[in-house]
Amino acid sequence: MALKKLSDYQKIIGNPAIESIRNSAAPLEGKSITHVNATSIGGGVAEILNSLTILMNDIGIHAEWDVIKGGQSFFNITKGFHNALQGQNVALPERKKKIFLEETERNSILTRFHHDLVVIHDPQPAALINYSKKKQPWLWRCHIDITSPHPVTWSFLEPFLKKYDGAIYSLDAYKKNLGIPEFIIPPSIDPLSLKNMPLTESRVRKNLTKNNIDPDIPIITQVSRFDKWKDPLGVIRIFEQVQKKTDCQLVLAGNMASDDPEGPNIYKKLMKKINANSSITTMLDQGDIFINALQRASSVVLQNSIREGFALTVSEALWKSTPVVARPAGGIPLQVLQGKTGFLASSEEQAAKRCINLLKNEKLRTQLGQQGREHVKKNFLITRHLQDYINLFRSHLT
Ligand code: UDP
Repeated sequence: MALKKLSDYQKIIGNPAIESIRNSAAPLEGKSITHVNATSIGGGVAEILNSLTILMNDIGIHAEWDVIKGGQSFFNITKGFHNALQGQNVALPERKKKIFLEETERNSILTRFHHDLVVIHDPQPAALINYSKKKQPWLWRCHIDITSPHPVTWSFLEPFLKKYDGAIYSLDAYKKNLGIPEFIIPPSIDPLSLKNMPLTESRVRKNLTKNNIDPDIPIITQVSRFDKWKDPLGVIRIFEQVQKKTDCQLVLAGNMASDDPEGPNIYKKLMKKINANSSITTMLDQGDIFINALQRASSVVLQNSIREGFALTVSEALWKSTPVVARPAGGIPLQVLQGKTGFLASSEEQAAKRCINLLKNEKLRTQLGQQGREHVKKNFLITRHLQDYINLFRSHLT
């Protein structure tokens, strides 16, 4: 796919918004920044950095993106951090701390920090700040719901976080009182990426039939990493209730991030549970165009997450005018506005009822779908995200 330029977005957000981004970025011309995270594929952070880094370069910022390296034991430990920050009780013996710090030190040598500003994403690379000769502002960008972290892990990580010059969260409720400036920047989707660009109806149908999904049977979908926090087993239970009342099929499309060692186990459990239900299809590691087509073809998209930083998958579905039924976790209520862009459901029964209602009511689906697209256009596109970063960088660099 051709490289994106800011001007390509003019047809979506209009010229004044493009000009405003360009003008406010002018003082950052030639400044260098680097983003560092833990995976280049799978999950929302990689999705965002793929687009954002390119657009930053298009407006004159020398932006780079580095991914930390590590073996199985390192990523087991950092997945434990992720789980603990989302509230799970995870043991953190001295041995694990030692491995984490040694691997972080190794990464501090493999990664160069000659930039004017450094943005570190999530907890995996957070301790790099301890090992670098810090010559510039460092910002910690947290994509996770950290409202009630497990205290053992939090007290290990907190001293590193306090060394940053600022922390960025997806929503106000995640602020942590770290004693450093704290900023809110909600995530976003790229409306021109392969995942979200317009597709013709015939291309959508072709993508489904090619994968043995009948586009003429109403589709309920969840697109998510195979992760217990996304509760795919709960999705199956919801679907089983819906299936009793109306003709439909479930598609579970998922992948596994390279920094998430728990994925294969969850996937195995899932396959066992699906077993003989021929109305359920699981799709592993599908490309962006298929995910795009699936989100478009679905009558309802479910997002049954127990914990969720933001859930880009929700914005992706709404952008395609597909209503979403979801648990009110993390950033989901920012996107799913009750009765306006979809429905929040706090039990499986409620979720099933909402799905049945939507499947039987085309007019309601169309109305919520239009409102969902408008909501994303106003709030959760990459161009707004870029503008927020520019504003923040300017406060540190000019
Ligand atoms: N995704 C994908 N294929 C899959 C599952 C997920 O491309 O099989 C993408 C999904 O479309 C979204 C991202 O991975 O862009 C997940 O981001 P989200 O914020 O929803 O969740 P995270 O994985 O970061 O917890």
